[in-house]
Amino acid sequence: MAQSSILGYPRIGADREWKKALEAFWAGKLEEAEFQAKLQEIRLTHLKKQKDKGIDLIPVNDFSYYDHVLDTAAMFGIVPKRFAYEGGEVPLSVYYGIARGTKEAAASEMTKWFNTNYHYIVPELDGAKPSVTENKPLKAYREAKQKLGIEGKPVLVGPLTFLKLSKGYDKSETDAWLDRLIPLYVQVLRELALEGVRWVQIDEPIVVTKIGDDDVRRLKAIYETFAAAVPQLNILLQTYFEAAERYSDIVSLPVKGIGLDFVHGLEGNLAAVREHGFPADKVLGAGVIDGRGIWKASLGEKLGVLEQLTGVVGSDRLIVQSSCSLLHVPVTVAGETKLAPELKGALAFADEKLEEIALLTKAATEGRAAIAAELANSESAVQALRQSAERNRADVQQAVAKLSAQEPVRSRPFSDRRVAQQNKWQLPIFPTTTIGSFPQSAEVRKARQLWRKGEWDGERYAAFIREQIDLWIKLQEEIGLDVLVHGEFERTDMVEFFGEKLAGFVFTQNGWVQSYGSRCVKPPVIYGDVAFEQAMTVEETKYAQSQTGRPVKGMLTGPITIMNWSFVRDDIPREQIAYQLAYALRQEVEALEQAGIGMIQVDEPAVREGLPLKEQDQAEYLAWAVKAFRMTTCTVNDETQIHTHMCYCEFHDMIDSIESMDADVISIETSRSHGELIHSFEENTYKLGIGLGVYDIHSPRVPGVEEMSGMIDRALRVLDPQLFWINPDCGLKTRGQEETVASLRNMVEATRIARAKHA
Ligand code: GLN
Ligand code: ZN
Repeated sequence: MAQSSILGYPRIGADREWKKALEAFWAGKLEEAEFQAKLQEIRLTHLKKQKDKGIDLIPVNDFSYYDHVLDTAAMFGIVPKRFAYEGGEVPLSVYYGIARGTKEAAASEMTKWFNTNYHYIVPELDGAKPSVTENKPLKAYREAKQKLGIEGKPVLVGPLTFLKLSKGYDKSETDAWLDRLIPLYVQVLRELALEGVRWVQIDEPIVVTKIGDDDVRRLKAIYETFAAAVPQLNILLQTYFEAAERYSDIVSLPVKGIGLDFVHGLEGNLAAVREHGFPADKVLGAGVIDGRGIWKASLGEKLGVLEQLTGVVGSDRLIVQSSCSLLHVPVTVAGETKLAPELKGALAFADEKLEEIALLTKAATEGRAAIAAELANSESAVQALRQSAERNRADVQQAVAKLSAQEPVRSRPFSDRRVAQQNKWQLPIFPTTTIGSFPQSAEVRKARQLWRKGEWDGERYAAFIREQIDLWIKLQEEIGLDVLVHGEFERTDMVEFFGEKLAGFVFTQNGWVQSYGSRCVKPPVIYGDVAFEQAMTVEETKYAQSQTGRPVKGMLTGPITIMNWSFVRDDIPREQIAYQLAYALRQEVEALEQAGIGMIQVDEPAVREGLPLKEQDQAEYLAWAVKAFRMTTCTVNDETQIHTHMCYCEFHDMIDSIESMDADVISIETSRSHGELIHSFEENTYKLGIGLGVYDIHSPRVPGVEEMSGMIDRALRVLDPQLFWINPDCGLKTRGQEETVASLRNMVEATRIARAKHA
């Protein structure tokens, strides 16, 4: 008989009660005992739900007080030195200190979990003397068993993945570190085995990225040690987010089960199973239900995949499961009351996915006939959306097909455009500008609330926004900036703002997912063909321009960023969605140009986030991402200056792609990765306009003139002064007015000094 399982369940709760509990505890509004009780209640509710929905192997220890990578570090007593920690079980105060920082010590770094929008806390190994401080998986297992009679499946981050995601050690010490960690894992596993645990899921998603012979050797060492130490424990080695690399090596590791992703790594994993078979002594965890997407599955299609797999392994050795943890999707569709029926009917969040998994498991054993009615239902739900008017806009599809068949290029090369633009704008050397947003003060947020609640009418709100624009245009002129912005006061979020105005988007009421810690995001849903309906930014930009003689930059979010920060439909390739967005945004670019806006910035901070995990797929992605950007921006006149902005990541390995976006000016975040980026320009100078952020906007600290001068001088050693712009690292919406004005004044002063030196 096939069994059902998931790899993890969302922590946040249907009503984000987890988030609320954490924040109440941090604010001192919940005592520790109450907090613990509340979290246990949430945990047990989640377990019970899985049981009720018919999940056989229910994960435990997937729950966390913040992040599962941090949990692993805490379990092994890996706490950075700067926190007063003296060994033993890591107290909550220290645990949250590592995650969020304390008055005395800075938080640990946080970074993206593979190619998802979940962020984990990066373990710092330097100086750590790891030991098992508590057996968290065992506690979770006991709790599920005692409270609910559930025979849980403890989940652990595997040693190789844990080590590769950690920092604070030299790569040459990898084996030494593994030697330190393996015995600790053995201790944890041994206690689980003694307790009578049957299955343990050990996550090693690192094996879907590039792994070498050394890593394969390490994996062998790790899992041979485990097999020898706890022969009675069934270890399922779990991979996800892509097809496993080195398939034959991975499936011959001495474990009882291998979990593969048959959604995001479908082709690769299926081909590998077909070609190399699957070991007769192992169970296959078949991740067929998408743990990252929000759409209902076509159960027929999924059964097709499962049938191919049972053809190889038989149904007795099959676990039907999610492709990855359900952490990446919202909790339930049940609370959505405002969605069109064909849309709501086509959605499956975590709870609905549990049902899909249970159904598929039944059919994998008993055959399709056992779920005939549900098969038909799932098919008609999928078809209803597929056939909806929103997914079949002939106008959009024809226009996009035509456009994407051509190579989007500006009418003349940068060298010519530059002359035209310089003639028009007469900007000084080292023009100064900002990235777009100015402080979203309490007053601004309040005004938006009043307007959203209907207490203010549209005209009153628009007048308020105009006042903010007036204020900041005056401030910018007075500070002496060369290229101004309107300040983005009308926007809460750079993606949501456009999503609300473009066709093809919808917003759920409760589609929250954890981004990091207690922070949850509610990504827009791109469910239909994307289309431009009316100008989105022209009014405010035009107004700002009318108030000043200096150029005002229009400000848009680019197609790739909008796509990467949304849940997207899965019936057409992402590339097509990007082109649809590009076509829509290009109409906005044209509208701005027609309204007399001569500089237009199209922000693409999230380009790198969409980079595929497999190196061999990256060039293709970058090619169409760049094409989408060019499609958005290529129709303007030579004199119209296209800007772009990027942040959040390292760019040194993608400068070529950035250059081929052909933006007249890019502003790029550098203060957090300064050395690296500057370094990459030594080998390969950048040939278009470029502004390297001269100060980090993530802190309220006002940077001094000298500090910024230093940044400018360093940059000018490798960049052409004639192409160099001066700007902060990113938008200023999270900052206060006073510190923003002070910092920008210093930036303008540093520019004055640079002009005197270099002109
Ligand atoms: N224009 C946006 C802003 O200034 C850019 C934000 C970003 O890069 N994340 O807020
Ligand atoms: Zn930015």
